[in-house]
Amino acid sequence: MQYSKLLLPTLKEDPAEAEVVSHKLMFRSGLIRKLAAGIYTWMPAGLRSLRKVEQIVREEMDRAGAQEVLMPAVQPAELWEESGRWDYYGKELLRFRDRHGRECCMGPTHEEVITDLVRREVHSYRQMPINLYQIQTKFRDEIRPRFGVMRGREFIMKDAYSFDTDEAGAEDSYRKMHEAYTRIFERCGLNFVAVEADSGAIGGSFSHEFMVLAESGEDDIAACTCGYGANTEKAEIKIASEQVTGDAPPMEKVMTPEQRTIEEVSAFMGVTPNEVAKTLIFETDKGTVAICLRGDHEANPAKVKNMLGANTAELAEEATVREVTGAPVGFAGPAGIGCPVYLDNALKGVASFVSGANEADAHYKNMVVGRDFTPAGWADLRMMEKGDPCPRCGEPVDVKRGIEVGHIFKLGVKYSEAMKANFLDRDGKEKPCVMGCYGIGVGRTMAAAIEQNYDDNGIIWPVPLAPWEVVILPLMDKEGRTDAEAAKLCEALEKAGIEVLVDDRDERPGVKFKDADLLGIPLRITLGARGLAEGIAELKERASGDEHKIALDETVKWATDWVLERRIL
Ligand code: ATP
Ligand code: MG
Repeated sequence: MQYSKLLLPTLKEDPAEAEVVSHKLMFRSGLIRKLAAGIYTWMPAGLRSLRKVEQIVREEMDRAGAQEVLMPAVQPAELWEESGRWDYYGKELLRFRDRHGRECCMGPTHEEVITDLVRREVHSYRQMPINLYQIQTKFRDEIRPRFGVMRGREFIMKDAYSFDTDEAGAEDSYRKMHEAYTRIFERCGLNFVAVEADSGAIGGSFSHEFMVLAESGEDDIAACTCGYGANTEKAEIKIASEQVTGDAPPMEKVMTPEQRTIEEVSAFMGVTPNEVAKTLIFETDKGTVAICLRGDHEANPAKVKNMLGANTAELAEEATVREVTGAPVGFAGPAGIGCPVYLDNALKGVASFVSGANEADAHYKNMVVGRDFTPAGWADLRMMEKGDPCPRCGEPVDVKRGIEVGHIFKLGVKYSEAMKANFLDRDGKEKPCVMGCYGIGVGRTMAAAIEQNYDDNGIIWPVPLAPWEVVILPLMDKEGRTDAEAAKLCEALEKAGIEVLVDDRDERPGVKFKDADLLGIPLRITLGARGLAEGIAELKERASGDEHKIALDETVKWATDWVLERRIL
């Protein structure tokens, strides 16, 4: 491939809005261009890498026995009404009407469509197990699209759905996908972990997330040396459940004008943040509730949902806070509040605490659970933190940042029951199919690879994902010998099956070197007039920076061997 003919516009400057490295580098190296918030065009070089991720995914899904299909992006509302998700999926679901006034949506995921397909086509236990997958464009109207293609609104996902006759079969399908995902991310050259996760809006009984370890990740992962790993959202916190009691003086109201945050209140009252109970109001589809937790802890909406068996739980709007507390935001507390109050287990370790008085500019001190108010219940309602005990072995966990690139769920019969995807079993009985679903963010995986592999000069592609494996830089010479030699070398390498980019542009060496580094092509071959006179090419490995002077007639073999050793099959 000749650079001079390619649409490969590299830039010196980072885009102003780019917050993370992969977004900056994908933009600067001409891999993507933005059309609108969270909506991108894949440029020729970017598409080559994206297709490589897709190909790895495809090969491993096929190897695991899944069959590829391609489902529509536009989905009728009726299917979503059948599954019950039309009402609660929220604003991420882009809804519209067609010319006949029928309600539709752009598919954010395909459980409904696949379940509809399978109930029409699969009727007998003989047709199962079956696993169908696609690599297709999804639309989710994300509240905060950012980080380029990592959190887009329109993005490419691989989604697979398995259908089994029973639990044991479904578990086997799940295990196969777990293995396939492990192979996929290994072949992409990523450093990742599979952790236990919350099943969220998709529903289902258990799930794992595949996390690429990177500081820019949006998720926190609790990890223990014993091998335990979980999203902090999901990680169960097991702490001593004995309630500490003391003889606190009677509860007392203290005026705290304009003191709203935990820091302000604790400083004002002369206590530490872990002696303040923060009270948060959540609106859920099971009603409004208040959650109390230690001031230094972080509330966990996923656990709030699970505790209530709710589908949604979001921090309440100001109007709701005023309604249940009778006070402005910042003064909510468990005593006298107009909704049920649930306490996080960690408050058991606090004999008496400070909390809002449900009155403007007022807090209570010396609050004691049971004496001054009665909670609706106790539960584990917070995010796990570094140092919390591992639920498996009890040792303190570490917390790391991760990018979720894949997610597998055991769904059970949630969709098949709601949508009547039944089959006739061996025993002649009609039963619902037992399902699993499995997603991979294809563009996000590619961006995550950049988050793990870059330096000040640009991307450092793992060989399996690089848009080209080798770049040849013929440097300007008067006789044009370097160009001729580059063309020859390119042809020979391509014949050997290597993907080559020749930078045949009429540019200074410095520009070519910079762009080759920015693009992150794993192996660079420089052909200069002086080297040619001596019969050598200069090779440089992008990742290690190692340089090699190789005889011209050995270059094809050397480069081919180098690349083949690094392709992960
Ligand atoms: P997140 O928590 O990051 O929003 P999710 O739980 O909503 O992810 P799933 O519904 O499990 O994601 O989707 C499967 C995969 O699709 C994810 O693991 C991720 O790799 C990818 N993905 C999800 N949302 C986006 C997005 N907005 N942009 C790009 N990829 C995405
Ligand atoms: Mg999401």
